[in-house]
Amino acid sequence: MTGRFAPSPTGRMHLGNIFTALLAWLSVRSQGGRMLLRIEDLDPQRSRAAYAEQLRRDLGWLGLDWDGEMPPQSTRSPVYAAHFAKLEEQGLIYPCYCSRSELHDASAPHASDGTVLYSGACRDLTPEQRAAKTRRPAWRVRVPDIAVSFRDGVCGPQTERLAETCGDFIVRRSDGVYAYQLAVVCDDALGSVTEVVRGSDLLSSTARQLWLYRELGLRAPQFYHLPLLLASDGRRLSKRDGDQSLEHLRARYSPEEIIGRLAFACGLQNRPTPATPQDLARTFDWAKVPKNDIVLPEGLF
Ligand code: GLU
Repeated sequence: MTGRFAPSPTGRMHLGNIFTALLAWLSVRSQGGRMLLRIEDLDPQRSRAAYAEQLRRDLGWLGLDWDGEMPPQSTRSPVYAAHFAKLEEQGLIYPCYCSRSELHDASAPHASDGTVLYSGACRDLTPEQRAAKTRRPAWRVRVPDIAVSFRDGVCGPQTERLAETCGDFIVRRSDGVYAYQLAVVCDDALGSVTEVVRGSDLLSSTARQLWLYRELGLRAPQFYHLPLLLASDGRRLSKRDGDQSLEHLRARYSPEEIIGRLAFACGLQNRPTPATPQDLARTFDWAKVPKNDIVLPEGLF
């Protein structure tokens, strides 16, 4: 089996993505699989090479090694273009000229993750109507009104009707950058990734990705969506919580202390004692990982 860790180099690692990297690593190592690292630097505005370098150093410091590195997404446009062309050949792609404000005015925001249900305003424009537009278009895929079902390794059975939750979604942005939804499918499938472990903020993207796997004739991996880590007062941890950044954590704790405390918080060990990833791999079992958000006990970090 092959797993991967796919961080975006937009900042220093923090407890949330240390947790994701640890669980992805534990699952792979406990099955004797292959671990890949992929830098998801699709967004040229937010990604920095220096953060990617720091990510590699931080993972090494934590003791989370990998067997190979996939090419960073910023170098993969020709691959994404080839898959975009396949969707186009199937008549699934159309240009969308809506502005951000038109999109927001036309639909009520859906769900807590801010996903917006697309109204379909540009779905059936005639060639003349398209020619009259001046804005540079984004590119959407036409989704059918079908249910996409899968079993998540942590969250259990899931079913989503794309036409009700997001509608036709963007696979290439108006600035020419291919969207995460398409890129992640191409990268995981072509990298022969069989297992994807990531935060539950991406659970709602999974049905879109599974549908793309199907349309592109690619083999989908097994998904595991991890619960969110919450501060002791129940707030969601974010990169803004400076003291959760690895820069600050490294000044206060050893790697074994960070790993051991995280493992305690998510039920992988009974006490917050220092541990290496290897120690935890010996007894790792997905059944121990909680489905619900994890509140970090006061004073644990
Ligand atoms: N690059 C995404 C992130 O850092 C993860 C995407 C994925 O694992 O599919 O949040």
